[in-house]
Amino acid sequence: MLNTRLSALALLLVVGVVAAQTPARHEALFAAATAAKPQTIETLKNLVNIETGSANAEGMAAMTNYLEGELKSLGASVTRSKAAFSTENPAVGENIYGTIKGTGSKKILMIAHMDTVHVKGTLAKQPWRIATGVEKVKTPAGEVERAFERAYGPGVADAKSGVATILNTVRLLQKQGFKDFAQITMMFNTDEEIGSDGSKALIQQLASQHDVTLSYEPTSSVPVEAMILAASGSVSVTVKIKGKSAHAGAEPEKGVNALVEMSDFVLSTMGLDNKDKALRFNWTIAQSGAVFNIIPDEATITATLRYLSPVDRDEALAKLKERVTNKKLAGSEITLIVPPFRPSFIADAAGKALVTKAVEIYKEVGGSIYVVPVTGAGTDAAFAALSGKPVLEALGLPGFGYHSNVEEYADIGAIPRRLYLSSRLIMEIAQGK
Ligand SMILES: [Zn+2]
Repeated sequence: MLNTRLSALALLLVVGVVAAQTPARHEALFAAATAAKPQTIETLKNLVNIETGSANAEGMAAMTNYLEGELKSLGASVTRSKAAFSTENPAVGENIYGTIKGTGSKKILMIAHMDTVHVKGTLAKQPWRIATGVEKVKTPAGEVERAFERAYGPGVADAKSGVATILNTVRLLQKQGFKDFAQITMMFNTDEEIGSDGSKALIQQLASQHDVTLSYEPTSSVPVEAMILAASGSVSVTVKIKGKSAHAGAEPEKGVNALVEMSDFVLSTMGLDNKDKALRFNWTIAQSGAVFNIIPDEATITATLRYLSPVDRDEALAKLKERVTNKKLAGSEITLIVPPFRPSFIADAAGKALVTKAVEIYKEVGGSIYVVPVTGAGTDAAFAALSGKPVLEALGLPGFGYHSNVEEYADIGAIPRRLYLSSRLIMEIAQGK
């Protein structure tokens, strides 16, 4: 009995120490964020159950209608605008944003994309489902056992979890009676997964009209949640080669072998990849030849180029252009196609301060955020950052297996702490803290 009392006292002391180290939590907000979990899961389910592959016009229209209803239920004034036309990456449908007004002075933009990489019909094969259990996870602090609660379905994390977090953050702030902002705008675009050509101008314009942009791509779930200080810019370049066909056995010398020119092009440029400079250059698609005894007269190759520095990018592109003129086969014709590129994102001082603030806020609810110096994945945050205003990424739910039909999930167990993080950040930003 005494032993037990002593243990209880020791435990109290330990808890006391821990509590002293944990920053003050906004208890009412956390309680409300916890209570908002079922509704957030419901929103997420509704979003997943409307298929929105980037090319799915019908699904995108249904999604825009759904979001218009959600935005109006929050009292927002809604603007829909047809995605801008692009030959390279044609977007379908309309971008949509809703604005609510408050009584304060700061303007905050929240963005997430409604499109997914999943083609129409994926949902029927991988319908919405929830899985719970316990698993062992290797973290920087060692292996830990933890419970999980996950939602599966196409695009559930990337970025439907972000859309659901945005809508329910604003709902939560409204339930708290928080109005100490001048304006909050919630913006959803249709074409992030195909390069955002149809929405990038709108994102940059809206970002320039707000003080801060918060971007809601999903964050990693296993082993740790993260925020990024920089994200690569990207462009996929294509090279088309024209040769001349000939009988491959009887008179091959009369032909110009496009496959040979293509192979030499690949080998002579693969060295552009430079991990130290965060410049990644890799050939990923190749097509040539159709008949075994004909010298192929056509070849097409595509590479993905990721970069942090625009100077490095332009140097790499210059070397590709140089290779175009230095042909292996005199008779071949080579064309290099460089579509519009996604800029890189590098957080400025104000953006870095936002990351620090988010890390501190997350500690209030026992969360921890690992700060990633740079990621190779592209983000619309880069277009927002062109405004010169601070941008924070990533505020969606933790998730896993993005772009995988089977593996993608969102960590719905994290909803209370992520809603807390998102809404408390907005409160702090709005109050100029
Ligand atoms: Zn995404």
